[in-house]
Amino acid sequence: MGKKRVYTFGNGKAEGRADMKELLGGKGANLAEMNLIGVPVPPGFTITTEVCTEYNELGHEKVVDLLKDEVEKAIAHIEGLTGTKFGDKNNPLLVSVRSGARASMPGMMDTILNLGLNDEVVDGLAKKTGNERFAWDSYRRFIQMYGDVVLGLKPQSKEDADPFEEIIDKLKEDKGIELDTDFSVEDLKGLVAQFKEAVKKQTGKDFPTSSYEQLWGAVSAVFNSWSNARAVYYRRLNGIPDEWGTAVNVQAMVFGNMGNTSATGVAFTRDAATGENIFNGEYLINAQGEDVVAGIRTPQQITLEGSRRWAKLQSISEEERTKKYPSLEETMPALYKELFDVQEKLEKHYKDMQDLEFTIQEGKLWLLQTRNGKRTGAAMVKIAMDMYRDKLIDEKTALLRLEASKLDELLHPVFDSLAVRSAKVLTTGLPASPGAATGQVVFFADEADKFEQTILVRTETSPEDLEGMHVARGILTARGGMTSHAAVVARGMGKCCVSGAGGIKLDYHARTMTIGGRVFQEGDWISLNGSTGEVYEGKVETRKPDMSGDFGLVMELADKFARMSVRTNADTPKDARIARDFGAKGIGLCRTEHMFFEGERIKAVREMILASTTEGRKKALTKLLPYQREDFEGIFEAMEGYGVTVRLLDPPLHEFVPHQQATQKALAEEMGVPIEQIRNTVADLEEFNPMLGHRGCRLGITYPEITEMQTRAIIEAALNLKKKGIDARPEIMVPLVGTMKEFKLQAEVIHKTANKVFEERGDKIDYLVGTMIEIPRAALVADDIAREADFFSFGTNDLTQMTFGYSRDDAGKFLPVYLDQGILKEDPFQVLDQKGVGQLVELGTKRGRGVKPELKVGICGEHGGEPSSVEFCHRTGLDYVSCSPYRVPIARLAAAQASVR
Ligand code: ADP
Ligand code: MG
Ligand code: MG
Repeated sequence: MGKKRVYTFGNGKAEGRADMKELLGGKGANLAEMNLIGVPVPPGFTITTEVCTEYNELGHEKVVDLLKDEVEKAIAHIEGLTGTKFGDKNNPLLVSVRSGARASMPGMMDTILNLGLNDEVVDGLAKKTGNERFAWDSYRRFIQMYGDVVLGLKPQSKEDADPFEEIIDKLKEDKGIELDTDFSVEDLKGLVAQFKEAVKKQTGKDFPTSSYEQLWGAVSAVFNSWSNARAVYYRRLNGIPDEWGTAVNVQAMVFGNMGNTSATGVAFTRDAATGENIFNGEYLINAQGEDVVAGIRTPQQITLEGSRRWAKLQSISEEERTKKYPSLEETMPALYKELFDVQEKLEKHYKDMQDLEFTIQEGKLWLLQTRNGKRTGAAMVKIAMDMYRDKLIDEKTALLRLEASKLDELLHPVFDSLAVRSAKVLTTGLPASPGAATGQVVFFADEADKFEQTILVRTETSPEDLEGMHVARGILTARGGMTSHAAVVARGMGKCCVSGAGGIKLDYHARTMTIGGRVFQEGDWISLNGSTGEVYEGKVETRKPDMSGDFGLVMELADKFARMSVRTNADTPKDARIARDFGAKGIGLCRTEHMFFEGERIKAVREMILASTTEGRKKALTKLLPYQREDFEGIFEAMEGYGVTVRLLDPPLHEFVPHQQATQKALAEEMGVPIEQIRNTVADLEEFNPMLGHRGCRLGITYPEITEMQTRAIIEAALNLKKKGIDARPEIMVPLVGTMKEFKLQAEVIHKTANKVFEERGDKIDYLVGTMIEIPRAALVADDIAREADFFSFGTNDLTQMTFGYSRDDAGKFLPVYLDQGILKEDPFQVLDQKGVGQLVELGTKRGRGVKPELKVGICGEHGGEPSSVEFCHRTGLDYVSCSPYRVPIARLAAAQASVR
């Protein structure tokens, strides 16, 4: 026997398990698991993710050959459990064919329901169930989905409606009907005929009638959908590898569209937006599959409490609510109870918030999916901490539950409460995903970048809109509930979203929306409050969010487990203080050149650069000294008690000089030299490759007086603070060292200057002198350098530039292509290239510590705040990472997770 490609489940038994997600995909593994723990699930089977890879290599025909025997047996397995027959006219088995990758990619790939129907089977189904309407409703849905997914009948342009929906809308108009459920059997028959005709007309093919032909077509379509544009984009956004592939789940249909004792819905065991521990969800009576999330009818709430909250937001009276939109708790109390128990059981079993799909067929409950629910950053923190407090999970599990980069959402601004009070509310919808967003209105996802800040407004969103949703600041939809596509995707992205704002009428052709009689054009400003569902006119002010509560608790836990400490990259006292509030324990990189640009200073800097003698340079530097000293005092004070690594002047000097005629002239007058002299010096400073030119310690070597002045400013600042009883801990860092001698010479200048200052002042402080390792050679000769240096700080930005030989400032031209073609998996300037650049970090650390075991080592590139890079630094034994202030909490959590893992 060859390798097993198909795994069956059904009736309390399964060949798979929850921990087989790699092979069976998340959906398949959990369908198996639900069977094993006694949750009612329609029987079926899963074709493994490995077959997807085979499919991509071998193609349709070969893969059908490989699968045929196993699939036929598995179909027989379903037939046995359901007492039906696939393709049979009298007692047909209908199945769904569903995608399901290892990591959930909601709505990104395709699913086909009611497969197995044709003109004869539909009659059989009608007879068997005594429900002709249901049979034809299922048939028209099947042709619609199959036509779209397998046969490729799609809208021709973005302004066009879906071709099937167009036919449906036309019929509704002709008949004066509003809802799908109002169609008569004859209407549905008419729709089926029109659908088939449309398929034939656009694709030139007849709709397939053989159930196996349908099945194989659907299986291939699911495999193909792994490579569709939106799935590819979703994977890139979420760092899911292309090689994983999707599994295919084939499962007996259960029907929520069999009449008024049938229903379908989606539920969450806790609130995915806020994390609140309340069961919630939406459902529709006499509906199927995606009806609830597609926003075609207004979905109803599952719980009574939720239903009342919803009605209030929609300004619907209690009377109207009970009549038109009652909760499941009210319409089907016994089934509600059963569903409630199942959700409790599932959450206890998986020990995480679950997102589930269910269908009720003539009074019987079936579960169709469970997965760890997507949630906002705030909900993520609250749920993990609640479960930890309730002892459902331990400290370490709680930490590992958190996605470090999602903490970012908690640091975003919220609306200023005063500004909100005076803002004009245009309309309200559902608070689908919290946050504050302000932007200019656009109506098409592919135009979300039309203005700098946009709000994407749609009747409802679809998976094709993913990229635009990512780009927009916020999303507003006219239809759809809390489980609509827009809502779920926005929460996953941590993007502000208001859904189901029924007061909005959209005209895509005219590019306008009308709210309460007022017309808004594309480009008009609006603001969204994703926490209340309010839509405001114009721009509304925002303020800093609150960092206490559960967020504080997470940080406490993180510090308990993290081995590495987290510092920040900060050049100003303000940034230093922000970072300190976020828990930074020191500064890993303080760039001094930023201090050279402000006001009067730039003049002195230019004088220094343009001076033709050492004397002239010294004179200019003397002017700079007080400014620098003051800057350092501010920063050291803000970081009192913690180390502050100050990097000596690094950039090429020509960045500071004036390039325009007028500024050159003004400078010449001020310095009392002819303008030609200025012009010549500026020309002299031009370099072909400034990033590899006269910069870094090369400046300090050629002009030691610069190093002297900066050292003096640092040491004097620390001594001044000491006098005031403030504990300053300077660490002086020499940039861009490639040889031991460079460092040694600079260190000598630094020590000499420091000693001189100590003598002058009759006082002393402790300080360190170390270097940045950012030239590959420095990593290779790290043992030599470590003999002289107190610490190493890997400058992974330059180290990446020089290891790859990519100029970061010019990489925009080719990096996107490299990522597209898979030459690189990730942008190496964002995610540390562990395989290449990482080797240099490892080697440099090992060689350095080989001669000086106590050598302090950290990194200060952008990577210091990127979770996978932080994890790498932990494994490599670094003492700290340093990152921008707003990434400090992320790095702290990532450092703790690395320790726990
Ligand atoms: P997605 O991954 O996009 O959620 P699914 O495969 O879960 O797609 O299916 C789409 C919809 O069809 C869901 O609402 C699901 O519950 C429903 N569905 C799938 N299989 C069946 C089935 N066998 N019987 C009834 N409904 C089904
Ligand atoms: Mg699903
Ligand atoms: Mg550098």
